[in-house]
Amino acid sequence: MKIGVYICECGINISSTVDVSKVAKKIGKLSGVAVSRNYKYMCSDPGQEMIKKDITALGLDRVVVASCSPRMHEPTFRNTVEEAGLNPYCFEMANIREHCSWIHHDREKATQKAYELVSGSVARAMGLEPLDRKEVGVTPAAMVVGGGIAGIQAALSIADEGFKVYLVEKEPTIGGRMAQLDKTFPTLDCSACILTPKMVDVSRHPNIELLAYSEVTEISGYIGNFTVKVNKKPRYVDEEKCIGCGVCAEHCRLKGTVPNEFDMNKGKRGAIYAPFPQSVPLKYTIDPEKCLMLTRGKCGKEPRCVENCPRDAIDFKQKESIVELNVGTIVVATGFDLFDLSVKPEYGYGKYDNVITGLEFERIVSASGPTGGKVRLNGKYPKNVVFIQCVGSRDRKGPGNEYCSRVCCMYTAKQAHLVREKLPDSHITVYYTDVRAFGKGFEEFYNRIKKEGVTYRRRELDDAIEVFQKDEKTYVKAKGYKDAEADLVVLAVGLVPKSGSKELAHVLNIQNSGDGFYLEAHPKLRPVDTMTDGLFLAGCCQSPKDIPDTVSQANAAASRASIPLARGKVEINPATSVVDEDLCVGCRTCEKICSYSALEYDEERGIMKANEVLCKGCGSCTAACPSGAISLRHYRDTGVMYQLEALLREGGTE
Ligand SMILES: Cc1cc2nc3c(=O)[nH]c(=O)nc-3n(C[C@H](O)[C@H](O)[C@H](O)COP(=O)(O)OP(=O)(O)OC[C@H]3O[C@@H](n4cnc5c(N)ncnc54)[C@H](O)[C@@H]3O)c2cc1C
Repeated sequence: MKIGVYICECGINISSTVDVSKVAKKIGKLSGVAVSRNYKYMCSDPGQEMIKKDITALGLDRVVVASCSPRMHEPTFRNTVEEAGLNPYCFEMANIREHCSWIHHDREKATQKAYELVSGSVARAMGLEPLDRKEVGVTPAAMVVGGGIAGIQAALSIADEGFKVYLVEKEPTIGGRMAQLDKTFPTLDCSACILTPKMVDVSRHPNIELLAYSEVTEISGYIGNFTVKVNKKPRYVDEEKCIGCGVCAEHCRLKGTVPNEFDMNKGKRGAIYAPFPQSVPLKYTIDPEKCLMLTRGKCGKEPRCVENCPRDAIDFKQKESIVELNVGTIVVATGFDLFDLSVKPEYGYGKYDNVITGLEFERIVSASGPTGGKVRLNGKYPKNVVFIQCVGSRDRKGPGNEYCSRVCCMYTAKQAHLVREKLPDSHITVYYTDVRAFGKGFEEFYNRIKKEGVTYRRRELDDAIEVFQKDEKTYVKAKGYKDAEADLVVLAVGLVPKSGSKELAHVLNIQNSGDGFYLEAHPKLRPVDTMTDGLFLAGCCQSPKDIPDTVSQANAAASRASIPLARGKVEINPATSVVDEDLCVGCRTCEKICSYSALEYDEERGIMKANEVLCKGCGSCTAACPSGAISLRHYRDTGVMYQLEALLREGGTE
C-alpha cells in the first residue's frame, strides 16, 4: 500500500500551535507512507495540484489530509483524488484544527496529539475499500405543504420552472395569515390586493394541483422518490359541481350564528361557508361540528342548502379519502400560530372584551372584516387606544418566549397609523421595550408614525405591565408612567410554531429547534435546507419573519427544491449498511432502531435486507445488531480497529 499524507498549516490556524513540519517528518517514517508533506493551504489550488501530481507520479493508492473538519473540506479532497484517478472513498481526513490546534496552547503536546491523530488516520486508510458513487432517478414533481404566502410563492416558482407541484393546504382555502391582514408595513399596500392575484395564479397554473382541506399523513422514500399519503377531508360539497355561488350559505339555517375563524371569531358565518369571498378554491365547506344534518341528522324538513343549491352539489355522505402522491422534493411552509395568552392573565385578554390581539385588530380594521373596517367596539368608537408590544416575546422570565418575533414592532406601528387614519382625534399610546426597525424602509416608517402624533412610552423588558379595570374604565399600568386610560387595548402578540408542528416533524422526519420552529441544516450556509435530503423550509415555519423575508425564503426553497428535479438524478451516499446473510438471524432489532426505514425483513428467507437508497449511514443498526451481522461500508470494523490500535500505540497507552 502507498499512502500519501498531507498536513495543512491552515495559514497560522494550525501552524501557530502545531509544529507541522515535525509531524510530517515523523509520519513519513510510518510503514506504508510513501510521501508526507506539509503546506500552507492544502485546500488551495496549488495544494490540491500537489496531491494530484503525487497520486500520478508515485502511484498512491490511499490519501490522508490532516487539516480542518471533514464537514468543511472532505468533499473538496474527495473530488481532488477522484480527478487524479483514485477512488474518492480511498481518502481519509484527520481534523487537527478543531480537534487540536484551536483547543490547545502547549505547542509540544499539541504537536504530539496531531501526530497521534494523523497516525490513526493513516492506519484507518489501510482498511478503506473503494466504493462506487451511485445515482438514482428523480420523480420530476414537488410537494409544497402549507398554502400561506410562503407555500404559494414556492409552488408558483417551482411550477414556473416547468415541474408539477402538489400544494397541500389543511384549511378550506389557501392564503394563510396574509389573507387576514388589512394593510402591510412598511408600504401600506392592501394585503388582499397583492395576495389574491397570486392565489388565482395558483388555481390557474397548469403545473399546480391544489389539494385544499387536506393533510399529509405519511411519507416514505428518499430524495428524488418520496411517496406521500394525503388525507382529503370531506367538505360534504362536491368540488366538481360547486361553482362558489354562495346560495347555500345564504339559506343556511345557522347563518350568522357560528363564530368565523377567518375573522378571528369577531364575525359570524353559517354552518356552510367559504372563509372569505376570494377563497381559492372557491368551494363551499360544511362545518361538521355545527351543521344540524351532520350533528343531529336533521335540519328542518329538508336542509335548505340541499333545496337551494343550483348544482345539486351538497353531499352529506362524502367520506375522507386518501390520495397517494409521488414527488422528488418537498417544501414545508406551514407557518405560525399566535402566542397563547391564557398563560398571561395580567393583560386581561379574554376577561375584558376591549382587550384584543393584533390579528383581531387586523380583521376589525379590514374593509372585508366583521365591522366593515370601522374601528368600533360595542357600538362605540374608542378615544384612547393603547398598544402593548412584546407580548409573549423577548420574555426572559417566562412563561413567554425568549426570542423576538420580528414583526410586532412594525405591525404595531402600522396599526397605530390605521387608528390615526380612521380616528383622527384619538389618543394613541404604544408601550414598547425596544423598537426593532431593521428592515428596508422600517426606520423611516417608524419615524413617520411618531410624527403622526403617536406617543411611544419605553419600559424595561423585565418590568411588569398590567391591564386592569376600575369604575368600569380600563387602564394600563406600567412602571414609571401614570396609568393610561384605554377604551381599546391591542396586544402585539408574538409568533409561535404552528400547532401540530411537532407531529408533522415526526411524519416528515425533520427536526424542531429549541424554540419549536423547524430546524434548518445550517443557520448561515444552508438556511432553507433541512437535515433530511430533499426537504426544504420556507416562511414562518422556520422562524418568525415578515412577508418580504418570507417571499425571499420561499423563492430560495423553491430553487433548492428544483435542483434535483432539473438534474433528473441524485447521488446517494455509498457508505451504507450491509447485512451478512450468514450471520443474520432475523431478530428484527435493527428494524426498530432505524430512523429511515432502511431495513426490511425478508419473510421468505427470515433475514434482514438493507435498502442502500434509504440508508443514511448513521450506523445505529450496526451497533444494535446482537449477531454482529450488520456492518457499515467505509466504517468497517477492520479500519476502525487499525485506527484505535494506532492511536493507543502512538499515545503510549497500548
Ligand atoms: C398581526 C400580524 C400582522 C402582520 N402584519 C404584517 C405586515 O404588515 N407586513 C408584513 O410583512 N408581515 C406582517 N405579518 C407577518 C406575516 O403574517 C407573515 O410574514 C406571513 O403570514 C408568513 O407566511 P407563511 O406562509 O410563512 O405562514 P402562514 O401565513 O401562517 O401560512 C401557513 C399556511 O400553512 C397551512 N398549514 C399549517 N399547517 C399545515 C399542515 N400540517 N398541512 C397543510 N397546511 C398547513 C396554514 O393553514 C396556512 O395556510 C403580520 C403578522 C401578524 C401576526
